[in-house]
Amino acid sequence: MFFICSNVGIANRKTCNIGGTKLILRCNKDTDRAPLASILLVMSDVLRSFLAHMRTGADQAPTQGEISMLSRRSMIGTAGAVGAAAVVGGAANAAPGETPRPPAPPASELTPAQALALLRQGNADFLAGQITTVLTDSQRRLELAQGQNPFAAYVTCSDSRVPPELLFGRGLGELFIIRNAGNTVDTVALGSIEYAVGILEVPLVVVMGHEKCGAVGAAKAVVEENATFPGSIGPMVEPIIPAVLAARGEEGDFLDNAVRANVRRVVKFLREDAGPLMLEPQESGDLRVVGAYYDLDQGMVDFFDVPDDLRT
Ligand SMILES: [Zn+2]
Repeated sequence: MFFICSNVGIANRKTCNIGGTKLILRCNKDTDRAPLASILLVMSDVLRSFLAHMRTGADQAPTQGEISMLSRRSMIGTAGAVGAAAVVGGAANAAPGETPRPPAPPASELTPAQALALLRQGNADFLAGQITTVLTDSQRRLELAQGQNPFAAYVTCSDSRVPPELLFGRGLGELFIIRNAGNTVDTVALGSIEYAVGILEVPLVVVMGHEKCGAVGAAKAVVEENATFPGSIGPMVEPIIPAVLAARGEEGDFLDNAVRANVRRVVKFLREDAGPLMLEPQESGDLRVVGAYYDLDQGMVDFFDVPDDLRT
């Protein structure tokens, strides 16, 4: 099966296998190569379904959208294929009757307060047990292939129980996430945050710790028991030790206090000491950094250490 991407010459080709049928897409210029993968992605969604109908002799005919898509094959150029993606796209991952949550507006259209409000609302839905469906279909993937525009950067622990997208009901391309055990900020993490702020222009950075954090617990064990850990685990938790020391003697649960103290230290660093890429947008009001604590049992994200102008 052949899909011709150009009327003139054949110099490059891309192939894929769909249900045992070899699909070849050709183009005549190097500049056409980049979109080929995207074109095939779109075509494969339609063809997989169409070929299944043909092979099984299913009663149901291909949908009008599939027929329309296939009938255009002789006219497909780069622009045509991308345009056709809109026909194929939609709520492909949604259950019948379920409307996916629309992606957040791009970062450039949101204030820090609006970005934080989106997260608060998302977590409220999560707490209410609402199942949030997000767009992951070919149209959305093609949009994001042109560039990402996340509305917040999120620094949190690697712990498998705290995935930000699930806690806030957000999908592809919406959160720029930096994760490591203990949600500390070293050079790599800071560079990642600075990229989100300086290049992607996110209006909000959240630093989140969580209940029963193993990394903070390890730092606590170092302080209380002079514990040692194999490999690089010891050096990894060293940056958390000052927070553990600061939390010593506070009322309440020592580990929880240390987790929050660790978040406050990172937030303070990003607000005051991280360098011009972080400080200048905060001075202009384009960026805010807030702290958060996630309760494993309740599923609630408690935003704390929030600047005055973001308090509700
Ligand atoms: Zn943790």
